[in-house]
Amino acid sequence: MKLFDTHFHLDKDCSFEEYLQKCAADLQLAAKDFKSIPEELLMLCAGSDYEDSLRAMAFADFAPEVYFSCGVHPHEAEKHLNDRKDFTVFTRHPKLLAIGEIGLDYFYEYSSPEVQKKVLAEFLELALQTGLPAMLHLRDKNHCRQVYDDALEIVTPFARSGGRFVIHCYAGSAADAVKFLDLGGWFGVGGMYTFNAAHNIREAISVIPTDRLLIETDSPYLAPVPYRGRNNTPGMVALVAQALGSARQMLPEKAAEVFTGNAMKFYHPGDKER
Ligand SMILES: [Zn+2]
Repeated sequence: MKLFDTHFHLDKDCSFEEYLQKCAADLQLAAKDFKSIPEELLMLCAGSDYEDSLRAMAFADFAPEVYFSCGVHPHEAEKHLNDRKDFTVFTRHPKLLAIGEIGLDYFYEYSSPEVQKKVLAEFLELALQTGLPAMLHLRDKNHCRQVYDDALEIVTPFARSGGRFVIHCYAGSAADAVKFLDLGGWFGVGGMYTFNAAHNIREAISVIPTDRLLIETDSPYLAPVPYRGRNNTPGMVALVAQALGSARQMLPEKAAEVFTGNAMKFYHPGDKER
């Protein structure tokens, strides 16, 4: 049995080796209700700017079970426009699975919405050129839907040109989920799904067909219940699989099989390595 954490960020304070050990220890904890501990934990390390994407690529070179993505997080959009780096250095790497983390963040607005949209459009173009899916981050402010409207406007022509995308850690409404579903979108579910107060997230996810869902941790943030508040690692994805599976009448083992299968279908890891 395999699990696949489709979105996490590296802990910069420890070595790759130590990080993998932490992941394995967390998997033991998180999979304690599984019949047996999953023997393989695949993971997709998300790059949030140029340097971070280089680090993600180095981790993918180090560990056979690690894949990576490259992109500029909306927090870093302004910095990117002032100091453009050449992201095509990543695009021939056999373990690059996505262009991301890219998107719009109107909660913090470290960069203006206009700058964020410009950078998002630029990276969606790179996704089309490379044929890789886009990994999107969308965050609204005070339940204002603007970020979803703006994203729909930018993603629609991308999807109509054949672009594939996933909205990681989806936290929008069910109504918006349906609009992205119609564009062929996929959705990432993480630890927030397990939070007691996250009724809105569970409700939105409930309208999404199982074959459009991916599981993730978004480590080091958002550790799932009962480890909420603790430092998160990809091993904790077992708890996300279990919670999401249980809402769909699946035992943990079945959920692991289904959501790992979805990730294989969406990302095709290993295809370029052959
Ligand atoms: Zn992230």
